[in-house]
Amino acid sequence: MTKRILLIGHPVGHSVSPAFQQAALDYYALDVRYEAMDVDGSSLSRTVAGLRDPDVIGANVTVPYKQAVMAFIDEFDDEALLIGAVNTIENREGTLVGYNTDAQGFLKALKEESGFDPKDNNVLVLGAGGAARAVVVALAGAGASSLVVANRTLERAAALVDSIQSTLPSAEAIELKSDSLGLVAANCHLIVNCTSMGMSGGEGQGETPMMSDLIPSGALVCDLVYNPRETPLMHETAKAGAQVLGGLSMLVYQGAAAFGLWTDKEAPVKVMFEAAEKALAARQLIGS
Ligand code: NAP
Repeated sequence: MTKRILLIGHPVGHSVSPAFQQAALDYYALDVRYEAMDVDGSSLSRTVAGLRDPDVIGANVTVPYKQAVMAFIDEFDDEALLIGAVNTIENREGTLVGYNTDAQGFLKALKEESGFDPKDNNVLVLGAGGAARAVVVALAGAGASSLVVANRTLERAAALVDSIQSTLPSAEAIELKSDSLGLVAANCHLIVNCTSMGMSGGEGQGETPMMSDLIPSGALVCDLVYNPRETPLMHETAKAGAQVLGGLSMLVYQGAAAFGLWTDKEAPVKVMFEAAEKALAARQLIGS
């Protein structure tokens, strides 16, 4: 019987996960199909219940259901509980177990692609949505010495900082504005863009959360946005002479961690990167 792994979200047509997950499954010649499912909110509980079927191995969950899906899952790993969101589900003989692989995907991308260890470093996180939550939990756990969260909506940044007070009491929330950013950015070793500014097709398309004059030349700037491959923030970072890391590597490494959970096999990361880059290039050709 052909088994299935689903991607649950809305919309899902733009996602490159089906391309690189299927490439990984095919690499091991597994009789498994990875299928994107565009789910509307009213059918979320029914769709998740369907994951208990014996032919389903598990699922990925993407925007906007990473939090909502938790109401329909039986068990969670510690990181998913800490982040408060699930991006991977495993069907263990009818019991649904929720994981969040975004934090480890982010840390792995930092280490493998940039050789960066957050321990004892000053970090500035831009944004306070779901991706920022995973990044902040990852950085606090990895021993960052100071952490500032800057967001357009200050209350959201304050709530995120509150939630990690026990791990990182010195964390601070500020507004995402040039004058406030200028004060903290100069001492930062790592800047992570977790806003959707710069993302193709979104409300912040073509925009950057920081200009080059605020970016220290010795910093590493990591942009979680992966479409387009060269974001406005990456352009500003290059102008500042700082090191840059795009979002595709985190995407592939979080997917690689999910692949390991579903299959108990080592993810063929090189194959996944090639498939993701090819799929993304095709999306950019058709302008999505
Ligand atoms: P989200 O929960 O909707 O959060 C969006 C964040 O962006 C919020 O902080 C929001 O600020 C801010 N924002 C949106 N438009 C803005 C604008 N025009 N000006 C200033 N701030 C703006 O989304 P998410 O799930 O965290 O995802 C954020 C980005 O990360 C997306 O581009 C997503 O594709 C990317 N991402 C990448 C990976 C990866 O593996 N590379 C993984 C997850 C997410 P407010 O709170 O003020 O609204």
